[in-house]
Amino acid sequence: MDKNVLVIYTGGTIGMIKDPLTGALTPFNFDALYRHIPILENFNCRIDTHCFDPLIDSSNMNPAFWVSLAEVIEENYERYDGFVVLHGTDTMAYTASVLSFMLENLNKPVVFTGSQLPMGVLRTDGRENFINAIEIASAHEDDTPIVPEVSICFENRLMRGNRTNKFNAENFNAFLSGNYPLLAQVGVHIRYNQQYILKPNFKKLKVHRNLDPNVAILKLFPGITENVVKSILNIHGLKALILETYGAGNAPTDKWFLDALADAVNRGITIFNVTQCKGGSVEMGKYETSAQLEGIGVVGGYDITTESAIAKTMFLLGEGYTGSELSKRLQSPLRGELTAE
Ligand code: ASP
Repeated sequence: MDKNVLVIYTGGTIGMIKDPLTGALTPFNFDALYRHIPILENFNCRIDTHCFDPLIDSSNMNPAFWVSLAEVIEENYERYDGFVVLHGTDTMAYTASVLSFMLENLNKPVVFTGSQLPMGVLRTDGRENFINAIEIASAHEDDTPIVPEVSICFENRLMRGNRTNKFNAENFNAFLSGNYPLLAQVGVHIRYNQQYILKPNFKKLKVHRNLDPNVAILKLFPGITENVVKSILNIHGLKALILETYGAGNAPTDKWFLDALADAVNRGITIFNVTQCKGGSVEMGKYETSAQLEGIGVVGGYDITTESAIAKTMFLLGEGYTGSELSKRLQSPLRGELTAE
Protein backbone atom coordinates (compact mmCIF):
# COMPACT_ATOMS: atom_id res chain seq x y z
CA MET A 1 0.00 0.00 0.00
CA ASP A 2 1.69 3.10 -1.22
CA LYS A 3 -0.59 6.12 -0.77
CA ASN A 4 -3.54 6.98 1.49
CA VAL A 5 -6.70 8.56 0.12
CA LEU A 6 -9.62 9.85 2.16
CA VAL A 7 -12.99 9.59 0.44
CA ILE A 8 -15.42 12.18 1.78
CA TYR A 9 -19.02 11.36 1.02
CA THR A 10 -21.41 14.33 1.12
CA GLY A 11 -24.37 12.83 -0.75
CA GLY A 12 -25.61 13.13 -4.34
CA THR A 13 -26.96 10.74 -6.94
CA ILE A 14 -23.88 8.51 -6.83
CA GLY A 15 -25.07 7.04 -3.54
CA MET A 16 -28.84 7.42 -3.86
CA ILE A 17 -31.60 4.83 -4.03
CA LYS A 18 -35.24 5.10 -4.96
CA ASP A 19 -37.54 5.59 -1.98
CA PRO A 20 -40.08 2.76 -2.46
CA LEU A 21 -42.87 4.98 -1.13
CA THR A 22 -42.33 8.21 -3.07
CA GLY A 23 -40.24 6.99 -6.02
CA ALA A 24 -37.84 9.95 -5.42
CA LEU A 25 -34.06 9.47 -5.21
CA THR A 26 -32.71 9.88 -1.66
CA PRO A 27 -29.19 9.40 -0.24
CA PHE A 28 -28.18 6.14 1.46
CA ASN A 29 -25.12 5.31 3.48
CA PHE A 30 -21.62 4.77 2.21
CA ASP A 31 -21.17 1.12 3.19
CA ALA A 32 -23.82 0.19 0.67
CA LEU A 33 -22.07 2.30 -1.94
CA TYR A 34 -18.81 0.51 -1.24
CA ARG A 35 -20.45 -2.87 -1.80
CA HIS A 36 -21.06 -1.92 -5.42
CA ILE A 37 -17.36 -1.52 -6.16
CA PRO A 38 -15.50 -4.36 -4.44
CA ILE A 39 -12.63 -3.71 -6.85
CA LEU A 40 -11.70 -0.77 -4.60
CA GLU A 41 -10.20 -3.30 -2.23
CA ASN A 42 -7.65 -4.20 -4.91
CA PHE A 43 -6.51 -0.64 -5.37
CA ASN A 44 -2.86 0.13 -4.91
CA CYS A 45 -3.63 2.63 -2.18
CA ARG A 46 -5.35 2.64 1.17
CA ILE A 47 -8.82 4.11 1.14
CA ASP A 48 -10.56 5.45 4.24
CA THR A 49 -13.94 7.10 4.26
CA HIS A 50 -15.61 10.00 5.99
CA CYS A 51 -19.36 10.09 5.66
CA PHE A 52 -21.36 13.25 6.36
CA ASP A 53 -24.45 12.76 8.48
CA PRO A 54 -26.96 13.61 7.21
CA LEU A 55 -26.02 13.12 3.57
CA ILE A 56 -27.48 15.81 1.36
CA ASP A 57 -28.75 16.32 -2.13
CA SER A 58 -26.35 19.03 -3.30
CA SER A 59 -29.24 21.37 -4.00
CA ASN A 60 -29.25 21.79 -0.20
CA MET A 61 -25.60 22.90 -0.17
CA ASN A 62 -24.76 26.02 1.87
CA PRO A 63 -21.77 27.93 3.33
CA ALA A 64 -21.96 26.13 6.71
CA PHE A 65 -21.58 22.79 4.92
CA TRP A 66 -18.66 24.21 2.91
CA VAL A 67 -16.91 25.12 6.18
CA SER A 68 -17.51 21.59 7.56
CA LEU A 69 -16.10 20.08 4.37
CA ALA A 70 -13.01 22.30 4.49
CA GLU A 71 -12.53 21.31 8.14
CA VAL A 72 -12.66 17.59 7.35
CA ILE A 73 -9.86 18.17 4.84
CA GLU A 74 -7.92 20.31 7.32
CA GLU A 75 -8.22 17.76 10.15
CA ASN A 76 -7.05 14.94 7.91
CA TYR A 77 -4.60 16.88 5.77
CA GLU A 78 -1.36 15.49 7.18
CA ARG A 79 -2.61 11.90 7.29
CA TYR A 80 -3.63 11.54 3.64
CA ASP A 81 -1.96 12.01 0.29
CA GLY A 82 -5.14 13.01 -1.47
CA PHE A 83 -8.88 13.49 -1.06
CA VAL A 84 -11.87 12.42 -3.14
CA VAL A 85 -15.11 14.27 -2.47
CA LEU A 86 -18.29 12.49 -3.55
CA HIS A 87 -20.80 15.25 -4.18
CA GLY A 88 -24.07 15.77 -6.03
CA THR A 89 -23.56 17.18 -9.49
CA ASP A 90 -26.09 20.02 -9.17
CA THR A 91 -23.88 22.35 -7.15
CA MET A 92 -20.55 20.58 -7.48
CA ALA A 93 -19.07 23.45 -9.52
CA TYR A 94 -19.97 25.92 -6.74
CA THR A 95 -18.46 23.75 -4.01
CA ALA A 96 -15.29 23.03 -5.99
CA SER A 97 -14.95 26.76 -6.70
CA VAL A 98 -15.41 27.90 -3.12
CA LEU A 99 -13.16 25.16 -1.70
CA SER A 100 -10.38 26.29 -4.04
CA PHE A 101 -10.50 29.71 -2.34
CA MET A 102 -10.97 28.41 1.21
CA LEU A 103 -7.98 26.05 1.00
CA GLU A 104 -5.00 28.38 0.65
CA ASN A 105 -1.64 26.69 -0.02
CA LEU A 106 -3.33 23.45 -1.01
CA ASN A 107 -0.54 21.08 -1.97
CA LYS A 108 -2.55 17.88 -2.27
CA PRO A 109 -5.24 16.72 -4.68
CA VAL A 110 -8.88 17.34 -3.78
CA VAL A 111 -10.82 15.57 -6.53
CA PHE A 112 -14.59 16.03 -6.74
CA THR A 113 -16.73 13.48 -8.45
CA GLY A 114 -20.27 12.12 -8.52
CA SER A 115 -22.53 10.62 -11.13
CA GLN A 116 -25.64 11.03 -13.21
CA LEU A 117 -26.90 7.52 -12.38
CA PRO A 118 -26.75 5.95 -8.89
CA MET A 119 -24.03 3.38 -8.21
CA GLY A 120 -26.63 0.63 -7.83
CA VAL A 121 -27.89 1.08 -11.40
CA LEU A 122 -26.35 -1.27 -13.99
CA ARG A 123 -25.33 1.47 -16.43
CA THR A 124 -24.01 3.78 -13.72
CA ASP A 125 -21.31 6.28 -14.59
CA GLY A 126 -20.43 6.46 -10.88
CA ARG A 127 -18.17 3.46 -10.77
CA GLU A 128 -15.80 4.76 -13.44
CA ASN A 129 -15.85 8.32 -12.10
CA PHE A 130 -15.07 7.10 -8.59
CA ILE A 131 -12.22 4.80 -9.64
CA ASN A 132 -10.67 7.50 -11.85
CA ALA A 133 -10.92 10.07 -9.06
CA ILE A 134 -9.14 7.77 -6.61
CA GLU A 135 -6.37 7.05 -9.09
CA ILE A 136 -5.88 10.79 -9.71
CA ALA A 137 -6.01 11.67 -6.00
CA SER A 138 -3.23 9.17 -5.31
CA ALA A 139 -1.09 9.90 -8.40
CA HIS A 140 2.39 11.05 -7.52
CA GLU A 141 5.65 11.69 -9.27
CA ASP A 142 8.82 11.64 -7.17
CA ASP A 143 6.62 11.80 -4.10
CA THR A 144 4.96 15.03 -5.26
CA PRO A 145 1.24 14.88 -6.08
CA ILE A 146 0.55 15.33 -9.78
CA VAL A 147 -2.62 17.40 -9.35
CA PRO A 148 -2.26 19.44 -6.13
CA GLU A 149 -5.40 21.51 -6.60
CA VAL A 150 -9.21 21.30 -6.39
CA SER A 151 -10.48 19.51 -9.48
CA ILE A 152 -13.56 17.78 -10.87
CA CYS A 153 -13.21 14.35 -12.44
CA PHE A 154 -16.18 13.47 -14.60
CA GLU A 155 -16.68 11.25 -17.63
CA ASN A 156 -12.99 10.69 -18.30
CA ARG A 157 -12.05 14.34 -17.99
CA LEU A 158 -10.24 16.14 -15.22
CA MET A 159 -11.01 19.86 -14.94
CA ARG A 160 -9.92 22.67 -12.67
CA GLY A 161 -12.83 22.90 -10.23
CA ASN A 162 -13.20 26.68 -10.28
CA ARG A 163 -13.38 26.70 -14.08
CA THR A 164 -16.37 24.40 -14.40
CA ASN A 165 -20.12 24.50 -14.67
CA LYS A 166 -22.73 21.78 -14.91
CA PHE A 167 -24.12 22.19 -18.40
CA ASN A 168 -26.04 18.97 -18.97
CA ALA A 169 -28.61 17.20 -16.79
CA GLU A 170 -28.89 14.19 -19.09
CA ASN A 171 -25.50 13.26 -20.55
CA PHE A 172 -22.77 11.53 -18.61
CA ASN A 173 -20.57 14.30 -19.92
CA ALA A 174 -22.16 16.83 -17.56
CA PHE A 175 -19.41 19.36 -16.84
CA LEU A 176 -17.79 21.98 -18.98
CA SER A 177 -14.57 23.87 -18.57
CA GLY A 178 -15.23 26.39 -21.30
CA ASN A 179 -12.27 28.66 -20.68
CA TYR A 180 -9.54 26.39 -19.41
CA PRO A 181 -7.93 23.25 -20.90
CA LEU A 182 -8.43 19.84 -19.31
CA LEU A 183 -5.99 18.99 -16.53
CA ALA A 184 -6.05 15.37 -17.65
CA GLN A 185 -7.76 13.08 -20.10
CA VAL A 186 -8.58 9.54 -18.99
CA GLY A 187 -8.24 6.81 -21.59
CA VAL A 188 -6.12 3.67 -21.58
CA HIS A 189 -3.66 5.91 -19.75
CA ILE A 190 -4.34 8.98 -17.68
CA ARG A 191 -2.67 11.74 -19.67
CA TYR A 192 -1.89 14.69 -17.42
CA ASN A 193 -1.51 18.11 -19.03
CA GLN A 194 1.23 19.19 -16.67
CA GLN A 195 1.56 22.68 -18.12
CA TYR A 196 -2.01 23.53 -17.05
CA ILE A 197 -1.85 22.11 -13.52
CA LEU A 198 -1.05 24.40 -10.57
CA LYS A 199 2.36 23.80 -9.01
CA PRO A 200 2.68 23.08 -5.27
CA ASN A 201 4.18 25.90 -3.17
CA PHE A 202 5.00 23.59 -0.19
CA LYS A 203 3.61 26.12 2.30
CA LYS A 204 1.37 25.19 5.21
CA LEU A 205 -2.33 24.75 4.46
CA LYS A 206 -4.44 27.67 5.63
CA VAL A 207 -8.20 27.20 5.81
CA HIS A 208 -10.41 30.28 5.45
CA ARG A 209 -13.78 29.89 7.14
CA ASN A 210 -15.46 33.25 6.75
CA LEU A 211 -17.83 33.42 3.82
CA ASP A 212 -20.11 36.44 3.44
CA PRO A 213 -23.39 35.50 1.73
CA ASN A 214 -24.55 39.10 1.17
CA VAL A 215 -24.27 38.70 -2.58
CA ALA A 216 -26.72 38.24 -5.44
CA ILE A 217 -26.73 37.31 -9.12
CA LEU A 218 -28.65 39.37 -11.69
CA LYS A 219 -28.95 37.74 -15.09
CA LEU A 220 -29.87 40.23 -17.80
CA PHE A 221 -32.52 39.47 -20.40
CA PRO A 222 -34.14 41.67 -23.03
CA GLY A 223 -37.17 43.27 -21.41
CA ILE A 224 -35.82 43.29 -17.86
CA THR A 225 -37.70 45.99 -15.95
CA GLU A 226 -36.48 48.85 -13.83
CA ASN A 227 -38.49 47.38 -10.99
CA VAL A 228 -36.55 44.09 -11.06
CA VAL A 229 -33.13 45.76 -11.34
CA LYS A 230 -33.83 48.28 -8.58
CA SER A 231 -35.39 45.67 -6.27
CA ILE A 232 -32.24 43.58 -6.43
CA LEU A 233 -29.88 46.52 -6.04
CA ASN A 234 -31.86 47.68 -3.02
CA ILE A 235 -31.74 44.37 -1.14
CA HIS A 236 -31.00 45.19 2.49
CA GLY A 237 -27.36 44.39 3.32
CA LEU A 238 -26.31 43.61 -0.25
CA LYS A 239 -22.55 44.05 -0.64
CA ALA A 240 -21.81 42.69 -4.08
CA LEU A 241 -23.73 41.80 -7.22
CA ILE A 242 -22.67 39.38 -9.94
CA LEU A 243 -24.07 40.95 -13.11
CA GLU A 244 -24.48 38.29 -15.83
CA THR A 245 -24.19 40.28 -19.01
CA TYR A 246 -24.38 39.42 -22.70
CA GLY A 247 -21.44 38.29 -24.85
CA ALA A 248 -18.23 40.14 -24.11
CA GLY A 249 -19.75 41.89 -21.07
CA ASN A 250 -22.44 44.00 -22.72
CA ALA A 251 -25.58 45.48 -21.15
CA PRO A 252 -28.39 47.85 -22.11
CA THR A 253 -27.51 51.52 -22.41
CA ASP A 254 -30.90 52.76 -21.09
CA LYS A 255 -30.43 55.70 -18.77
CA TRP A 256 -32.54 54.19 -15.97
CA PHE A 257 -30.39 51.05 -16.03
CA LEU A 258 -27.03 52.83 -15.93
CA ASP A 259 -28.30 55.25 -13.27
CA ALA A 260 -29.45 52.35 -11.08
CA LEU A 261 -26.04 50.68 -11.33
CA ALA A 262 -24.20 53.95 -10.69
CA ASP A 263 -26.34 54.61 -7.64
CA ALA A 264 -25.55 51.14 -6.26
CA VAL A 265 -21.81 51.58 -6.85
CA ASN A 266 -21.98 54.94 -5.06
CA ARG A 267 -23.63 53.21 -2.11
CA GLY A 268 -20.61 50.88 -1.91
CA ILE A 269 -22.03 47.84 -3.70
CA THR A 270 -19.44 46.09 -5.86
CA ILE A 271 -20.78 45.02 -9.26
CA PHE A 272 -18.84 42.20 -10.91
CA ASN A 273 -19.44 41.75 -14.64
CA VAL A 274 -19.42 38.13 -15.87
CA THR A 275 -20.63 36.85 -19.21
CA GLN A 276 -23.66 34.61 -19.74
CA CYS A 277 -21.58 32.75 -22.37
CA LYS A 278 -19.95 29.45 -21.42
CA GLY A 279 -16.75 30.40 -23.25
CA GLY A 280 -14.92 33.66 -23.85
CA SER A 281 -14.21 36.71 -21.80
CA VAL A 282 -15.66 40.03 -20.65
CA GLU A 283 -13.93 42.87 -22.47
CA MET A 284 -15.29 46.08 -21.04
CA GLY A 285 -14.99 48.96 -23.49
CA LYS A 286 -14.99 46.76 -26.59
CA TYR A 287 -18.55 47.87 -27.41
CA GLU A 288 -20.40 51.02 -26.47
CA THR A 289 -22.74 48.75 -24.47
CA SER A 290 -19.98 47.97 -22.01
CA ALA A 291 -17.94 51.17 -22.10
CA GLN A 292 -20.42 52.95 -19.85
CA LEU A 293 -20.31 50.12 -17.31
CA GLU A 294 -16.60 50.69 -17.01
CA GLY A 295 -17.18 54.41 -16.49
CA ILE A 296 -19.59 53.70 -13.64
CA GLY A 297 -17.06 51.52 -11.85
CA VAL A 298 -18.41 48.05 -12.68
CA VAL A 299 -15.61 45.48 -12.28
CA GLY A 300 -14.87 43.25 -15.30
CA GLY A 301 -14.66 39.53 -14.50
CA TYR A 302 -12.70 38.43 -17.59
CA ASP A 303 -13.44 34.73 -18.26
CA ILE A 304 -14.54 33.71 -14.75
CA THR A 305 -17.60 31.45 -14.41
CA THR A 306 -20.65 32.65 -12.49
CA GLU A 307 -20.09 29.81 -9.99
CA SER A 308 -16.55 30.91 -9.34
CA ALA A 309 -17.52 34.60 -9.26
CA ILE A 310 -20.08 34.03 -6.52
CA ALA A 311 -17.63 31.84 -4.56
CA LYS A 312 -14.78 34.32 -4.87
CA THR A 313 -16.98 37.26 -3.89
CA MET A 314 -18.29 35.47 -0.77
CA PHE A 315 -14.72 34.54 0.10
CA LEU A 316 -13.18 38.01 -0.39
CA LEU A 317 -16.03 39.77 1.44
CA GLY A 318 -15.58 37.23 4.25
CA GLU A 319 -11.91 38.18 4.39
CA GLY A 320 -13.03 41.78 4.95
CA TYR A 321 -12.20 43.31 1.55
CA THR A 322 -14.35 46.15 0.24
CA GLY A 323 -14.14 48.93 -2.35
CA SER A 324 -11.07 49.19 -4.56
CA GLU A 325 -9.22 46.43 -2.65
CA LEU A 326 -12.10 44.04 -3.34
CA SER A 327 -12.24 45.09 -7.01
CA LYS A 328 -8.50 44.61 -7.44
CA ARG A 329 -8.59 41.12 -5.95
CA LEU A 330 -11.68 40.10 -7.90
CA GLN A 331 -9.78 40.88 -11.10
CA SER A 332 -6.56 39.06 -10.32
CA PRO A 333 -6.34 35.27 -10.35
CA LEU A 334 -6.05 33.76 -6.87
CA ARG A 335 -6.33 30.04 -7.66
CA GLY A 336 -6.21 30.00 -11.46
CA GLU A 337 -9.92 30.86 -11.71
CA LEU A 338 -9.57 33.53 -14.40
CA THR A 339 -7.28 34.69 -17.15
CA ALA A 340 -6.81 38.45 -16.90
CA GLU A 341 -6.03 39.63 -20.42
N1 ASP B 1 -29.72 16.28 -7.18
C1 ASP B 1 -28.48 15.54 -7.20
C2 ASP B 1 -27.46 16.32 -6.38
O1 ASP B 1 -26.90 17.26 -6.86
C3 ASP B 1 -28.01 15.34 -8.60
C4 ASP B 1 -26.72 14.58 -8.74
O2 ASP B 1 -26.07 14.17 -7.82
O3 ASP B 1 -26.34 14.34 -9.89
O4 ASP B 1 -27.24 15.99 -5.24
